[in-house]
Amino acid sequence: MGPSEIQLSGEERVRYSRHLSMPEVGARGQARLKAARVLCIGAGGLGSPAALYLAAAGVGKIGLVDFDDVDLSNLQRQILHGTKDVGRPKLQSARDRLHDLNPNVRVALHDCRFSSSNALKLVAQYDIVVDGCDNFPTRYLSNDVCVWARKPNVYGSVFRFEGQSTVFAPHLGGPCYRCLFPEPPPPGTVPNCAEAGVLGILPGIIGLIQTVETIKLILGTGESLVGRLLHFDARKMKFREFNLRRDPQCPVCGETPTITEPIDYEQFCGMTAEVPAISVQELKGKLDAHEPVQLLDVREPFEAEIAHIDRAKLIPLRDLPDRANELDRVAYTVVHCHTGMRSAKAVQLLRDAGFTNAFNLKGGIDAWADEIDPAVQKY
Ligand SMILES: [Zn+2]
Repeated sequence: MGPSEIQLSGEERVRYSRHLSMPEVGARGQARLKAARVLCIGAGGLGSPAALYLAAAGVGKIGLVDFDDVDLSNLQRQILHGTKDVGRPKLQSARDRLHDLNPNVRVALHDCRFSSSNALKLVAQYDIVVDGCDNFPTRYLSNDVCVWARKPNVYGSVFRFEGQSTVFAPHLGGPCYRCLFPEPPPPGTVPNCAEAGVLGILPGIIGLIQTVETIKLILGTGESLVGRLLHFDARKMKFREFNLRRDPQCPVCGETPTITEPIDYEQFCGMTAEVPAISVQELKGKLDAHEPVQLLDVREPFEAEIAHIDRAKLIPLRDLPDRANELDRVAYTVVHCHTGMRSAKAVQLLRDAGFTNAFNLKGGIDAWADEIDPAVQKY
C-alpha cells in the first residue's frame, strides 16, 4: 500500500499532532512514515534508541534482527530493555516496549543471526536498513546486501567517548562501506564494546543520528549524510564532518564489481584464521587429571574481577609482548579471554615468539561458564 492510500485514524491524528503541524511532515509525511519499513540489525546499544524513536514517530513496520538475551551489563546503554527483562530474549523485551510505546506499529521479530544465508531475503522486505551491529562480518554483509538491493544502509559505530555515522547508498550517489574500507582490520586489532568499553550515552547519540537520517530519507526531506561521515567526540563536545567519495574500483559498488553475492564474511574478516585450540571440556579434563597446564588470561583486570578461572595468570593482551618472558616457553599453555578472539591473537603472538605449545581456549570464559562452571559470572 503506497503512502497516498494510507489513512490516519483519529487516535493517530492526536498521537502525531506535533508532526502534522510541521509543514515538512504533515499528513503526507506521516502517511509516508506509516508506509515505511525499516530493518534494525541488532536490538542493542544503537538499535535501542533507533527502534524507540522509529516506533514513536509512527514508522509502520520495524524489523529487528537479534538472537541475544538481555544481560545485566546491557542496561547501561540498551534502553529498550529493563531490569525485569534480564535473561529474556532481547526481541521479546523490545517488542513489549515498542508496542507499549506505539501499538500502531508492526514489530517484526527476526530471531536469528544476520547471515549470508538470510540477509538478502530479510533486506528485501524493508526500505531502509539501520545497522546497529558491533562486528565486522555483519557490517560488511549488511553493506554488500544493501548495495545489491539498492537500499540505504544507515551506519553508526561507537568507541568509548567517540562515535560516527553516515548513510551508505551508492544508488543515491554516495560511497559504500567497502569504498572506504576495502579490507577489514586484522582480527583482534579493533576492540569491540565489551573489550574497550563505551560511555553508555554514546550509542544513544549515534543511534539517534542514524534515526534522524532514516526519518529524513523516509520523508524525502533535508540533506542526508550520503557522502559525508559525521564524527562525534563527547569529551570535546565536537562534531566534525568528512567528505566521502565513491571508489570506482570498489569490489561491490564499483564499475566492475567482483563481489556480486554474499561471501563467507567470517572468513573474509579473518575470524576463522585458525590457531591451534582446545575446547573447554578438554581443558577441564586436563585440570581434573592434574596435568601441568600453564593457563593464561589475556583479558583486562576489570574483567578478571568479574569472573575468572582458578589458576589463570592474568596478562592483558596489550601487555603480552612485553611480559611474555614471565611465562614458561615450553609448557603446555592454554590462553583464554572473554569469547576467544583476543586469546586467538595472543596464541598467534606466543607461537611467533617460540611458544610451540600454546593453544586457544575455544569460546573463552563465556563457554567455560556455559558448559563447565555455572558459578562463573557471565558478563
Ligand atoms: Zn563501494
